[in-house]
Amino acid sequence: MVKPEIDIVRAREDTPGCRTVLHFNNAGAALMPTPVLEVTMGFLQLEAKIGGYEAAKLSQSTVERVYEAVGVLIGCERSEIAIIENATRAWDMAFYAIPFQAGDRILTSVAEYGSNYIAFLQVARRTGAIIEVIPNDEFGQVSITALKNLIDERVKLIAITHIPTNSGLINPAAEIGAIAKAAKILYLLDACQSVGQMPINVQEIGCDILSATGRKYLRAPRGTGFLYVRQGLIEQLEPPFLDCHAAHWVSKDEFKIRSDARRFENWETNYAGKVGLGVAVDYALAWGLDAIWTRVSHLASTLRESLGDIKEVKLQDIGLEKCGIVAFTINGKNPQDICHELSKLNINTSVSGASSTRLDMEERGLESVVRASVHYYNSLAEIEFFCEAVTRIAVSA
Ligand SMILES: *Cc1c(COP(=O)(O)O)cnc(C)c1O
Repeated sequence: MVKPEIDIVRAREDTPGCRTVLHFNNAGAALMPTPVLEVTMGFLQLEAKIGGYEAAKLSQSTVERVYEAVGVLIGCERSEIAIIENATRAWDMAFYAIPFQAGDRILTSVAEYGSNYIAFLQVARRTGAIIEVIPNDEFGQVSITALKNLIDERVKLIAITHIPTNSGLINPAAEIGAIAKAAKILYLLDACQSVGQMPINVQEIGCDILSATGRKYLRAPRGTGFLYVRQGLIEQLEPPFLDCHAAHWVSKDEFKIRSDARRFENWETNYAGKVGLGVAVDYALAWGLDAIWTRVSHLASTLRESLGDIKEVKLQDIGLEKCGIVAFTINGKNPQDICHELSKLNINTSVSGASSTRLDMEERGLESVVRASVHYYNSLAEIEFFCEAVTRIAVSA
């Protein structure tokens, strides 16, 4: 089979932001493509014209399509999907539904995202559950051997960040899934940076729960995200919050919680963003996640190579196989200043600080890194321009 390829000219034409900025902050929020922008703004206009409830009713099939599209994207049923305002709250709705008891063990990764770890700490303090960090292997990813050795009957949850916010690392999600499955342990995957960047299939990974956001590699509007919960698990998880959408008030003293994953949603939502998310997913599917991933990894490795040629630059990515997030520092320069200097040249990057991934950053003695994250619509010319800019910053006094 011929490898699918991205038509880069069309991809850039479809992306208004490509005409105004060099955007290497796709791990922060990627640039929306025109179809996403149009459907989102169109929905707001419809709300203004005919009324919010009326717009939702008229667009029912478009809204329902969002669940269908996400199901196709990650390989699950629509009933296993909840659309939630961001990845953190999606993750929370599942995590805080797990009934922990004193002595239960939570196994997590060195690269775990700050908000997730704060939730572990809170639940550990409330319940007496124990947080244990799986050590990394020699490549800097979750050690499968170490994980195997940590498994016992007290392990209640394995919660892993697939791709961290601060580096190119890709944790071995499917190998972890196989271990979780064999030991019948709940497996929660934070796939916030991987969904939209590479093919993700929950059956192949073997996770029970997965959370993701819309605005990052999926290119959807901000304030969108989703949660996947495996069918057999949904009714065992009582959401930490309920409302008239998540549950029915059936009689004065009784309520009944929905049986599908929408029990993790809440009633009021940003419909414009939601339909935008659906179109963003369909748009990604139309390119093909294999094609997207091939292009993203090619651009990222080109960027790493070029940055690696600059004497003062230190690449800060770990892991065996690396993704579209390229982290680096420059000797003697503050990452915040580098990011600021780049922004003066109309180049978007971001800075990832210790508190987003504290365990990893402390282990590596890092306070912050510059994060240059590429997407398929970025170009080799942009990489060249970027590296010239970084070189100038590196040699400047
Ligand atoms: C950005 C990010 C999150 C949080 O996503 P939100 O949509 O901002 O809640 C979670 N995990 C990782 C790894 C992230 O990079």
